[in-house]
Formats: sequence, structure tokens, C-alpha cells
Amino acid sequence: MQDEQLTDGATTARFPDFPADAEYGLLINGQSVPAMDGSTFACVDPFEDREWGVVASGSAADVDLAVSSARAAFERWRSVSPGNRARILLRWAALIEQHAEELARLQVHENGKTITEMQGASLGTAAAASFYASLAANMHGETFESPLPRHRAWTVREPIGVVGAITPWNNPLVLLSWKLFPALAAGNTIVIKPSEVTPLSTLRLAQLGLEAGLPDGVVNVVMGAGAAGKALAEHPDVDKLAFTGSTATGRAIALAGAARFAHVTLELGGKGPHIVFPDANLDRAVEGLVTGLTAGTGQACNAGSRVLVHADIHDEVIERVGRRLSELRVGDPLDPETEIGPLASRPQLAKVTSYFDISREEGHRLVTGGQRASGDAALERGLFVEPTLYAGVDNRSRLAQEEIFGPVGAAMSFTTDEEAVRLANDIPYGLTAGFWTKDVDRVHRLSGQLRAGTVWVNTWRVGGLQLPFGGMKASGVGREMGLNALDAYTETKSVWLGLDS
Ligand code: NAD
Repeated sequence: MQDEQLTDGATTARFPDFPADAEYGLLINGQSVPAMDGSTFACVDPFEDREWGVVASGSAADVDLAVSSARAAFERWRSVSPGNRARILLRWAALIEQHAEELARLQVHENGKTITEMQGASLGTAAAASFYASLAANMHGETFESPLPRHRAWTVREPIGVVGAITPWNNPLVLLSWKLFPALAAGNTIVIKPSEVTPLSTLRLAQLGLEAGLPDGVVNVVMGAGAAGKALAEHPDVDKLAFTGSTATGRAIALAGAARFAHVTLELGGKGPHIVFPDANLDRAVEGLVTGLTAGTGQACNAGSRVLVHADIHDEVIERVGRRLSELRVGDPLDPETEIGPLASRPQLAKVTSYFDISREEGHRLVTGGQRASGDAALERGLFVEPTLYAGVDNRSRLAQEEIFGPVGAAMSFTTDEEAVRLANDIPYGLTAGFWTKDVDRVHRLSGQLRAGTVWVNTWRVGGLQLPFGGMKASGVGREMGLNALDAYTETKSVWLGLDS
């Protein structure tokens, strides 16, 4: 890290609550500690493309200490009654709400998402803490009419043990909340390895947990890059791995878990098909397509980045979506009026812009965008690209098949329902899919035929804690959220009792 960048006051002026030279230790056994080898790294604010913060960078030795701490805390935490675990989670939820603005600003500083989206994310994190508290308070096994004479039989739900949670940068707290709170509600302890792009929002969330009354060692945070994640995934004393991130990393984590039969849930990449039929409400469909392409600057696993439009309305819809994309307000993510912020990191900028070159080579028709944003000094300094749409895209092309994770859409046309379903399913991913129609028969038929964990009809990107979320195919294994969310963090034990008479 360069001293010059740390002493430059711009990030401090924008974020006075997070001084650029502040130091942040790992959270292990309730204590803030430096990395054993003294390593640090810096966050990068993507709006200014400027470094800030001195963050301890954990290695395998730090991960080992954190896992030992979580193991030592496990017996104590599992013996806390579910009702008392729920009380702590509810206090934590209240603290998150009190600090919602701070947590939102911290995430904007880390990943450049708009303040409006991150304010919602803070409140969503608090809502998740409350939701899983209610599940903890209602945790139960089952009793059965005895299947055998002179016997009784029942089941109990037990925590799995130490959970290793590895998370991405694109929505750091919400995505963590779907792991952290059910894991704790069920009586597990946890070691979290947040993304190196967004390490400090997770750290702050964990500190609020301590304030809420969590015993030391129940939640540990080891910041660092992929090597720390790898050490956690491969640690022999981690009983359950909960991962959200790319499909490539997910595969490595699945293999690491398989080597010792650890429980594994994986929330991986997506490239959702977003289909429009001629009978749809086109005004709403166009807005839905724009949301699907640009929410979170397109850095969303549930992006609708493959646009499939019926040939009869194709040209009109593409023209309207292109116009709306070109009108979006691109700029400072702290400004509540901003609709598109910067990309989250320098590697992400390099990846997204590489697809502009790929699209030129593949010969797709550029409808709008296709380059870095320009026009004022702030846009040129930050990690901005223009919202982009290509039309006439072959579904087998790289643009249509690969997850870009930026505001870049690939549009194509179809003529029959069968062709739409075939194109939609012709991809390794299966996280989300959606379509716009008023035909009830088609609603039932297509929602069954689309191979995705979530299907949206006449809406896009809605969700609720009551409904499970997760992927088919290369988009993941298992589900998060939902009324059965604690199943992924418990073992079910069957108990038989033989009676003397
Ligand atoms: P990533 O796979 O690069 O990193 C995710 C996490 O894994 C980070 O904490 C990283 O440090 C860590 N990591 C990297 N290499 C590792 C290794 N070898 N072993 C263990 N950990 C390792 O993903 P990302 O770029 O942070 O996130 C974007 C991806 O996440 C996209 O593919 C997106 O679709 C996906 N995502 C999925 C969902 C979902 O719910 N399905 C939600 C959000 C994001």
C-alpha cells in the first residue's frame, strides 16, 4: 500500500466515519488481533479508485486459531436454550437497525453499490436476524406413533458443529445473513471469511453481535483473500461449509468438503433468461428488463442478463430497453438519485470491459453502451462502465453463455414457446429465470419447464425470507432462506427407546 494514497484526504472527506489510515484486526475469540505474520491489505473505494483502511490479512495459521476458537465455544453455545439464542439474535437485529446507515455507507465505500440499495440491504440483514430468531425459538424434532410394539421413537435436531462461511462482495451482509443467523440459531458456531473486496462490513456486523451478547468465539472473522478461504474450506475441524461465490470457486470448495464428508451448501453464479411474450404488459416488461440488467450495476447473481424477446415485438422492446439504459443516471453511489454506481473492483472492471472486446470479435449488434463511462472527471476516475445491451446474439456465444457480472445484456429473438424454453435452458447455470405473459396456461407450463431455482412471472428480482433461494445445475447445491432454513445447519437424529412392558 502506498502512504501517499493513505494520506490523501478524499476518501476521508467522503467517509469521515472510516478514516483512510484506520487499522482493522481479525476477530478471533472476541478479540481484535493482527494477522500472525503481520500481513495487511487495503480496501479500494471504487468510486474514487482509491485505497483506504489497513486490514489484517489472515493466513492458514489465523484460520486455524479461529476454528479452534469456534470449536471451543461450540459446546457452550449449543447448550444455550433456543429461546435465549433467539433473544440474542433479536438484540442483534435491533442493533443492526440502529446502525443501518453506518453499515450501508460502509458497504458503499467497499463495493460502490448505490446507497439506496445498501440501505435496503442493511435492513434486510436485520430482518434476517429476526426471522432466524423466530425459527430458533420454534426448533423442534418429531415424535411418532411407535412403529414397533413396546418402543417409542422420536427425532431431535442437533447443530452440526463449526461452520465455515465464505462470502462474496456483491451483497456482503445480506448473503452472509442467510448463513450466519440460521447457523447460530441452530446452535452452531462460525468462522467467516468475507470477500477481500468487502471485509469490513462483515467485521462491523460481527462486532454488533458481540454487543448484542454473543459469547466470545461463537462468531469469528478472518479477513483475507482466496488463500484464507481455501484454508477454511480445507480445515479438518470445519463440519459445514456455506459458500456464496463463483461457480469455479464453488467447485473447489465442494471438492474440499467431499474429502472429509463435510456438509456443503453452494450458492453460485447465474445468467438468468428473461423472456418477453407479445401478450405481456410491455411497459412493465421493459422496466423489468432494465432492472434485471442493471440492478447492483449488473453485479447480481440473479441478473436477467439473457434477454429473449418474441420476434413480433423484438425490435420495439429492444429499442425501448436500449433507450432506458442510455438514460440511467450513472454516478456517485452515495447520491440517492444515482441509479448505476461503479463496478466493485479493478479486476471486475477488467473482466467486464474484456467482454466489450469479446462482443466486437463475436460480431454482436451494439444497441447501447459498450465502453467505459465518460463525460466528467468523477466518472473517468471511478470504475464505471456504460449500461450495455447487444442484440442478435447467438445463444452459444461467450457473451450469452458466460457470467459477466456487470450491466451487460445479450438479447436474442424466438418465435415459439418451445424455442424460448430451449434457449433459456441451454446454459450451465440455473439460478433464476423469468417471463412476461398474461396467458395462464403458459404461466403454469413454462414455470415448470424452466430449469432454475427461482422463476419470476411478470416481475423480477423479488424475494422474501419465507421462500427458499438457490440454484440448479452449475448455480449451486442446496437452498438458503425458507421456513426450513435450519435443516441446512442441523443433523436430524432418530432415537429409539425400548420399553420393558
Ligand atoms: P469468488 O468465487 O471469486 O469469491 C467468493 C469468495 O471465495 C471470496 O471470499 C474469495 O476470497 C473466496 N475464495 C476465492 N478463492 C477461493 C478458494 N480457492 N477457496 C476458498 N475460497 C476462495 O466470487 P466473487 O467474485 O466474490 O462473487 C461473485 C460471484 O458470486 C458471482 O459468480 C455470483 O454469481 C456469485 N453469487 C451467487 C449468489 C447466489 O446466491 N447464488 C449470490 C451472490 C453472488
